[in-house]
Amino acid sequence: METLFNLAGRTALITGASSGLGERFALLYAKAGARVVLGARRVDRLDGLAARINSSGGEALAVPLDVTDEKSVVAAFDVAEKSLGGVDTVVANAGIVVGGRSTDIAASDVRGVFDTNSLGVYLIAREGARRMISQGSREKQNGRIIIIGSITAVMTNQGDAAYAASKAAVAHLSRQFAREWVRQGINVNVVQPGYIATELSGDRYSTDEGHTQIAGFHRRRLQDAASLDDMMLYLASDRSGSVTGATFTIDDGQSL
Ligand code: NDP
Repeated sequence: METLFNLAGRTALITGASSGLGERFALLYAKAGARVVLGARRVDRLDGLAARINSSGGEALAVPLDVTDEKSVVAAFDVAEKSLGGVDTVVANAGIVVGGRSTDIAASDVRGVFDTNSLGVYLIAREGARRMISQGSREKQNGRIIIIGSITAVMTNQGDAAYAASKAAVAHLSRQFAREWVRQGINVNVVQPGYIATELSGDRYSTDEGHTQIAGFHRRRLQDAASLDDMMLYLASDRSGSVTGATFTIDDGQSL
């Protein structure tokens, strides 16, 4: 049976695939038929995930990647290209948070957040676009770049200011990139999730503070990671050919 979002023939590089949402997107894309390139710093975890995907009939490659380091970004695309062929789909998912009030956060932590969440997205999307263009995305109209933002880009919060601002930066960056590459057959879109339990949040949601936060959500619950699946598949598929420069909020109503 033909599935709605068939990614067969695509090669997707996913950053931050060693845990949380990135790991989920990798499994999802592999199941939909894409070859997946798994990038992150914890290569042991990527190796485990690649083995899982390869042993269940998919095709996955683990590559060491630090998104804040331009050389590492270029090297990851080089390895991907050599082993699996050109990458036509990029998921810029890697991200970190340093929580707390702005009055307490060290400048080095602020820099680290922007380096990973903003500069890292810039470097990954840019290198991806360079490769897509040289592989003929203009003729093929097949380039896809999906940036994982956050609803914190549009909300205010008691804390996490640098994180929120880094996510606001990539929301606009994606529109800039979309405009720049609109004639190159590359679509750039942002998905802004709400709060989901992953390693990013650690044990926060089992603390009193976390319970209070969840009680403050309109639906009194955390978002389920699976709620992102269909949009992630759609944006990587040929069906989203006319969708670029868009921001999709998928947050179970948390930001309302
Ligand atoms: P996780 O902490 O589980 O995953 C973060 C991933 O980013 C890890 O795989 C980590 O891998 C990778 N990463 C961090 N720094 C780097 C780096 N310098 N180079 C390469 N990879 C890096 O968190 P989530 O899955 O929750 O987060 C994924 C994305 O979703 C992030 O951008 C986050 O901001 C966003 N998001 C998450 C929400 C949530 O509530 N969970 C809500 C909204 C958005 P490694 O350490 O191995 O390098």
